[in-house]
Amino acid sequence: MDETKSWQAELNDRRLKTRGWYGCIAPDGWKWIVEDCDRLLAKLDPKYEITQVKEKFGTLRYYYETVASRDTQEIMDAVVSEAERLSARTCEGCGNSSAMSNLNRGIKYDSTAVLKSSGGWYRTICDSCDTEGRYVSVDALNAREQYEDLEFYAGKAREQVQEGQDILDVFLKIAKKDLLEE
Ligand SMILES: [Zn+2]
Repeated sequence: MDETKSWQAELNDRRLKTRGWYGCIAPDGWKWIVEDCDRLLAKLDPKYEITQVKEKFGTLRYYYETVASRDTQEIMDAVVSEAERLSARTCEGCGNSSAMSNLNRGIKYDSTAVLKSSGGWYRTICDSCDTEGRYVSVDALNAREQYEDLEFYAGKAREQVQEGQDILDVFLKIAKKDLLEE
């Protein structure tokens, strides 16, 4: 094994389809996910090839080609989906993960390793690797947005409610109208 070669380059040596594709440029933190995925795919089809393995919108994309049977392909797709799902809970920098299922494999747990966003940029990064603290969990952002929506509709309902009306009915009417018009 060439010590100076990156794990991405080694994967490309093994599996890259043609020089037309750039192969694996996934961040280092996802090494264990990508290598697991590759090992499972190769078990299902030893001749499978990768075209691109990279980060997009903060999570892993694992593009590959195979001439295996349809049934085998379905399993391979499921393996890839699982790897991509896992990447949204694994820091792209250090590889620590908030996915509990992997702790028995020596992966370090970090609840802050989740998909995050900053000004429209997505990354899956833990708090220690986000040295400037710029990224906020996408789930937290969604929750805040939903809460702000609720506050907004509640405010409208308070303004519009008339005597004898149930404020919840008014609230739902406003919220429903607004959502249907979007
Ligand atoms: Zn990290």
